[in-house]
Amino acid sequence: MAWDYPDFDDHEGVHLYHDPASGLNAVIAIHSTALGPAAGGIRFWHYAEPRAAIIDALRLSRGMSYKNAMAGLPFGGGKSVILADAAGTKTPAMLAAFGRAIDSFDGRYVAAEDVGISTGDVVAIAEQTKFVSGLPAAAGAVGGDPGPYTARGVHLGIRAAAARALGRTDMRGVHVAIQGVGSVGGALARLLAADGARLTLADFDGAKAKALAAELGATAVDKDAILTVEADILSPCALGAVLDAESIAALRVAIVAGSANNQLATDADGARIHARGILFAPDYVINAGGIINVALEYAGQASPAEVDTLIARIPERLEQVWAESAESGDPAAAVADRIARRLIGRG
Ligand code: NAD
Repeated sequence: MAWDYPDFDDHEGVHLYHDPASGLNAVIAIHSTALGPAAGGIRFWHYAEPRAAIIDALRLSRGMSYKNAMAGLPFGGGKSVILADAAGTKTPAMLAAFGRAIDSFDGRYVAAEDVGISTGDVVAIAEQTKFVSGLPAAAGAVGGDPGPYTARGVHLGIRAAAARALGRTDMRGVHVAIQGVGSVGGALARLLAADGARLTLADFDGAKAKALAAELGATAVDKDAILTVEADILSPCALGAVLDAESIAALRVAIVAGSANNQLATDADGARIHARGILFAPDYVINAGGIINVALEYAGQASPAEVDTLIARIPERLEQVWAESAESGDPAAAVADRIARRLIGRG
């Protein structure tokens, strides 16, 4: 291939932006519009070099194609990345310039929040374009922060995993170690605590983990200890690429099921976790709750009940992946990729 980017997967387009007036540098990657407009969030992140930002946009946009297809949404996959400086400078002029960049796609790309972009930022971007979602919702309407919806899907997925791998019909006393108690991990911890699960929590911000642990009757551990806690389930809800040869060898759990995008550092790690007999919930299948909420908000006229119905189907998709994995002997991650690629016509 002419392009020296191993993550380039015949993306429909990769667009690079520079706005001299505001200093905005950004990438918008459209992976596939086979199922509908490319939907995916905006990441605001400081990269060591621009190439890393392009690679991130390539990987994340492909992941969005898979996620939207697996969630049964009429959307393709795209993602954008704003290259932050080391100080994380974010100005209204930058967000306005980025809004104009999104608008130039005329609806072929639909944006929303991602790491580093708040609901307030999305509101600012929406002054320039109507092709954004994840805006604050009126009472009873669909919209707002996707985090709690993602947590609901992960919660249902964890219950399905516990039923399959542990034979458990309820979560009472099931030990779940959660890495990262932010928007998703924090909401997930509350849902699991209400089920009577036993929780071990960790966060980069140790005080945050301790405060939540005190509130929920859980245990807090240091962020460097969470991946080796002996538990039933590990739920990575912080960063990507936490599962590599070293961390997988050290896991002491039966299940890995969490919200973080791109948990496997490489495809080989999907095979490694499978070889250890650990049940893995492919991240883009289990963490689709947020995009389901964002997509139905964008489509308009959807009710919160319709969001609930689609989120409730996440365990069915996981079951399909796990059943095909058990039958074929292939890792769950590879099976999920295969199903998703079939759905977007690239099988
Ligand atoms: P967040 O920023 O609200 O929370 C992440 C938390 O992880 C923070 O509290 C942070 O301090 C903590 N953290 C960072 N590094 C850590 C480390 N090394 N060890 C322990 N904790 C660490 O983000 P979020 O919205 O909760 O998202 C969490 C993950 O889920 C991200 O990977 C995100 O891409 C993914 N995700 C989120 C959504 C959503 O709707 N918010 C949807 C799909 C996927």
